[in-house]
Amino acid sequence: MRYISTRGQAPALNFEDVLLTGLASDGGLYVPENLPRFTQEEIASWAGLPYHELAFRVMRPFVEGSIADADFKQILADTYGVFAHASIAPLRQLKGNEWVMELFHGPTLAFKDFALQLLGRLLDHLLAKRGERVVIMGATSGDTGSAAIEGCKSCDNVDIFIMHPHKRVSEVQRRQMTTILGDNIHNIAIEGNFDDCQEMVKASFADQSFLKGTRLVAVNSINWARIMAQIVYYFHAALQLGGPARSVAFSVPTGNFGDIFAGYLARNMGLPVSQLIVATNRNDILHRFMSGNRYDKETLHPTLSPSMDIMVSSNFERLLFDLHGRNGMAIADLMDTFKSGGGFSVEEDRWIEARKLFDSLAVDDEQTCKTIADVFYETGEVLDPHTAIGVHAARECRRSLATPMVTLGTAHPVKFPDAVEKAGVGRELALPEHLADLFEREERCTVLANDLATVQAFVAEHGNRGKPIQAI
Ligand SMILES: *Cc1c(COP(=O)(O)O)cnc(C)c1O
Repeated sequence: MRYISTRGQAPALNFEDVLLTGLASDGGLYVPENLPRFTQEEIASWAGLPYHELAFRVMRPFVEGSIADADFKQILADTYGVFAHASIAPLRQLKGNEWVMELFHGPTLAFKDFALQLLGRLLDHLLAKRGERVVIMGATSGDTGSAAIEGCKSCDNVDIFIMHPHKRVSEVQRRQMTTILGDNIHNIAIEGNFDDCQEMVKASFADQSFLKGTRLVAVNSINWARIMAQIVYYFHAALQLGGPARSVAFSVPTGNFGDIFAGYLARNMGLPVSQLIVATNRNDILHRFMSGNRYDKETLHPTLSPSMDIMVSSNFERLLFDLHGRNGMAIADLMDTFKSGGGFSVEEDRWIEARKLFDSLAVDDEQTCKTIADVFYETGEVLDPHTAIGVHAARECRRSLATPMVTLGTAHPVKFPDAVEKAGVGRELALPEHLADLFEREERCTVLANDLATVQAFVAEHGNRGKPIQAI
């Protein structure tokens, strides 16, 4: 499989290079040159497969030429073997034909484990083959950091540095990162805010000379392998609900358009998906586009669903590329306009095309809490605030009661106790068994000044299994 940039200027790459590259050199995002397409008979024949075997069939075309089948099978068996539920992504019924797909049975209790557990293993496999080591740097305000560290903790060829704003992440979130111990794991608490952390990551990608030739790799939500891994669970859900003989609709809590873009790809690969609902919190740039054909940046509002607190939706460019007939020049122009501070609208027929599949809703904190309470009284289930936003949007935007509606359950409620408490469902949530002693575990973390040179010197001193990086 070859991958091309959404801005049309960067060279096409194979899977292996896309995995190691991040942003394309023209500023665009990589997408498959040709999407694989499965027949209905083929998809139907996958009913009942264990998750990792379904994953092999769905993802094989994307990695073809870079990873041997037997290796890929083993990697997938290992990846999904660490999940704490036999179904990996179980469906739970709320009301008639209304479901939540629980994507929080991975090690860090959020759906990001589906992709980052795989990404770590894929990286390590390919690096071993090449005889290379890499450094990962990332910034986190919570979920991504712990999932990335968990995904890389067993990698022999990766050193991972995750920065979080000192004293500005919740204790559960901090401990999920700092209690994973290993020579190749480096938690850095920056005396600054999340944006400061992110700026330092960006600056480090722009000038990597401090790494003396060692490659820097990104694990943020634009990484193609993350999107690829998320396609699988759409197939998994549909196959359990009568697909592909009947269509299924999905409601997806999203900020960066990553998870829902995976659903769009599943549809284009042949899965009958009748509707995709973009469910956002008050940071509603995606809802403003879907409801009013306007894409522009507004100020950031902190909410009870912090994993969707964004101003710009980084994967949206991938959809725009398709809406513009895959014309990279058109996307480069749009993004230039956007970057220089102007929002944009797309031509009416392109927007109407998008609206055939997508609906959207922005849900505020008050409604989020009300939905957590409503669902608790209806079913006894406690939803996390992101999932609650998805369920509310599903109920408001649903086009057909005859079509199964699946909301993606993106996190376990124990990760977001504030929202659950505000919803007044009045229950102390216990940590799942594998995290029960989280508050007794040893933590390892280095506090550093909010200063690029200090951070880069630290990475250079520890980026080779905890020892100084050698010049290549
Ligand atoms: C990351 C995250 C989201 C948003 O995912 P996108 O990549 O923006 O689609 C939603 N909910 C939770 C719990 C998350 O951690």
